[in-house]
Amino acid sequence: SKQNGRGTFSFYASTLNDKLLAYRGLVEDMRRGLATGEFYLEYQPRFDTRGRSIRSVEALVRWRHPERGRISPADFIPAAERSGLIMPLGEWVLRTACRSAAGWQDIGVSVNVSPVQFHNSDVVELVKRVIADTGFDARKLELEVTEGVLLEDAEKARNALRGLKALGVKLAMDDFGTGYSSLSSLRTFPFDVIKIDRQFINDMEDRDGGREVVQAILGLGKALGLSVTAEGVETVRQLTMLTADNCVEVQGYLLAHPMPAERISGLLRRDAAV
Ligand code: C2E
Ligand code: CA
Ligand code: CA
Ligand code: CA
Repeated sequence: SKQNGRGTFSFYASTLNDKLLAYRGLVEDMRRGLATGEFYLEYQPRFDTRGRSIRSVEALVRWRHPERGRISPADFIPAAERSGLIMPLGEWVLRTACRSAAGWQDIGVSVNVSPVQFHNSDVVELVKRVIADTGFDARKLELEVTEGVLLEDAEKARNALRGLKALGVKLAMDDFGTGYSSLSSLRTFPFDVIKIDRQFINDMEDRDGGREVVQAILGLGKALGLSVTAEGVETVRQLTMLTADNCVEVQGYLLAHPMPAERISGLLRRDAAV
């Protein structure tokens, strides 16, 4: 189940019996944190392998807990989903990302949308409202969804994705290759971008066909007319192979870690000056 999956409540629960209490504590703290501004965003650049310029940035949520310090999204997103807090949190993320990115000429921003948020609220209406409120150009907004979005109610998901496309928003399939139906979903849902899961990038340097798998995904993207982003690029060798294999967009610690909005502004100013 979700709360066992990623060691979610380890900060709060030392024994299994503490789990429910821990969950409640975490949810209470999140609720308070949302009201008092403990959440913030970092942005990780996505680079063009040819020009080495920043094409867009991915917004990643962070939580600075007053007593526990930084808590990873992997540790609080599942509880936010279970409790429904993902709705206000997700809206805050979208709004904040669009507001920041409105000041960044020429680059796009991508925002992760939880399957829970996707199925329990009107995502199309929300995005429309945020775009209207922030004046952000919808064509520069990309939403990253995982396959989980498509599994629950495929028809509803398809309609929502179409509605988002109609607004001009781009759609990325996140963590591509890790689920059960990635291949057929690419064909039957209106995606623009494939994000190759970092596990595949990590396997590229192994001798047992890791690179060939990535090449196959790149070929698939090309055949279907989709752009492909490689996630989790950590070594020069991976970058060299990806560039040789005509992967156009890369993201990972080798190139840049997630960083505060002000540093993105700084990087863009530096780029513009060159
Ligand atoms: P994700 O969407 O797959 O995001 C990429 C994660 O990989 C980020 O972790 C990022 O910091 C990390 N990463 C980037 N480059 C590298 C690399 O070269 N090597 C390695 N090992 N990792 C790298 P982060 O920020 O901890 O986020 C974890 C997950 O939490 C995200 O995975 C996403 O599923 C979720 N998440 C983060 N922010 C949001 C959000 O605003 N909304 C929702 N719904 N989920 C979010
Ligand atoms: Ca993502
Ligand atoms: Ca991912
Ligand atoms: Ca490896």
